[in-house]
Amino acid sequence: MDFLPSPQRYDSMEYRRCGKSGLKLPALSLGLWHNFGGIDHYENARNILKLAFDKGITHFDLANNYGPPAGSAEETFGRALKQDLLPYRDEMVVTTKAGYHMWQGPYGEWGSKKYLVSSLDQSLKRMGLDYVDVFYHHRPDPETPLEETMAALDLIVRQGKALYVGISNYNATETEKAVEMLRAMGTPCLVHQAKYSMFERWVEGGLLDVLEQNGAGCVAFSPLAQGLLSDKYLKGIPADSRAASGRGNGALESGRITEGKLKQVLQLNEIAQQRGQSLAQMALSWILKDPRITSVILGVSKPEQLTDSLKCLENKEFSTEELQKINQILD
Ligand code: NDP
Repeated sequence: MDFLPSPQRYDSMEYRRCGKSGLKLPALSLGLWHNFGGIDHYENARNILKLAFDKGITHFDLANNYGPPAGSAEETFGRALKQDLLPYRDEMVVTTKAGYHMWQGPYGEWGSKKYLVSSLDQSLKRMGLDYVDVFYHHRPDPETPLEETMAALDLIVRQGKALYVGISNYNATETEKAVEMLRAMGTPCLVHQAKYSMFERWVEGGLLDVLEQNGAGCVAFSPLAQGLLSDKYLKGIPADSRAASGRGNGALESGRITEGKLKQVLQLNEIAQQRGQSLAQMALSWILKDPRITSVILGVSKPEQLTDSLKCLENKEFSTEELQKINQILD
C-alpha cells in the first residue's frame, strides 16, 4: 500500500453537520452511481477515489445497484479500499442503499425486511466491510407497510451493520411518516438523499422544511443534472460524455438534451462567467447556498472534473440580483 494522502487534506474542505446529529459531512461528497462500474476503467476510478480523499472528501456514496453491472461499483470500491484507503476507514463515511431491482424472485427489490437485510449483507461482502456508516432505503415501496421497512432499518443498526439510516426519493409526506416511526424506534433518520439541482427544485416545495423541523440532513444528488449543467453540451454531444455512453440504468440520454434546455444552459453559463466560475461550479455553489443542504454528491468521470468542481467552495455567495436572474432563466 503506497498511497499517502496529503496531511493538508482537511484544510480546504468545509464540513457541515448532518441535521441535528453528531455526524458532519463534507460539503462535497463523491458518488459512485456511474463511472465506477465493471464497464469502466478501474485505474481511472481508483485515481478519482484517491484524489477525492486527498481533497478532504470523506463521504463516499454507493448503492447495491450501482455499476453497471449492478453491484460492480461496490466491488470497485472494495478493491480500491483494499489497495489504498483501508488504513483510513475511520476517516471515511461509506453509505449504501437498497430499493431497486437486484436479483430474481419476490425478495430482490423494494422494501421488505427480507430484501433489505440480505441486500446489505451482499453489499458488505462486495466492499469487504463489516459495517457501513449510513444505510438508505433507496425508494419508497407502495406495497410493503412503511412500519416494516423502517423496522428493517432499525434492525440493521441494532445488528451493527450500519451506524445510521436514511431514506431517499421519499416525498415530504412519506418522509414525515418515516421520520416519526424511526424516532419512535430509537433510530433517528439521519438524512434524506434527494435529487436537487437548478433544473430539479422539488425539494424546495416542502421536503427541506420537513427535514429541518425534524433535525435530519439533506444530501443532494445529480447536482449537475447528470452533466447538463456544465458547458460540455453547448457544442454538441462529446463522444466521452455520459449522454453518448448508452450506459442505461437511468443515465442521461441524448434525447433529454433539448434546445430549450441548451438555451437555459447558455444563459446560465453567462452568469457563471460573470461570477468568475464555470457553470458546473456555479450549479454546485447554488445548491450549497442553502444551509439546510448538508452535502452535494458529485459524480465525476475524470479526476480533472473533481478538481474543477471543488473550486465551487471558493464562491458560494449569490447577490439578490444574480438569484433573480437565475430564477428568470429557470422559470
Ligand atoms: P451529476 O449531476 O454531478 O453528474 C455527473 C456528471 O457530470 C459526470 O459524470 C460528468 O459527466 C459531469 N461532470 C461532473 N463534474 C463536471 C465538471 N466539473 N465539468 C463538467 N462536467 C462535469 O451527478 P450524478 O448524476 O452522477 O449523481 C451523483 C451521485 O448522486 C451518484 O454517483 C450517486 O451517488 C447519487 N445518486 C443518488 C440517486 C438516488 O436515487 N439516491 C440517484 C442518482 C444519483 P460525463 O460523464 O459526461 O463526463
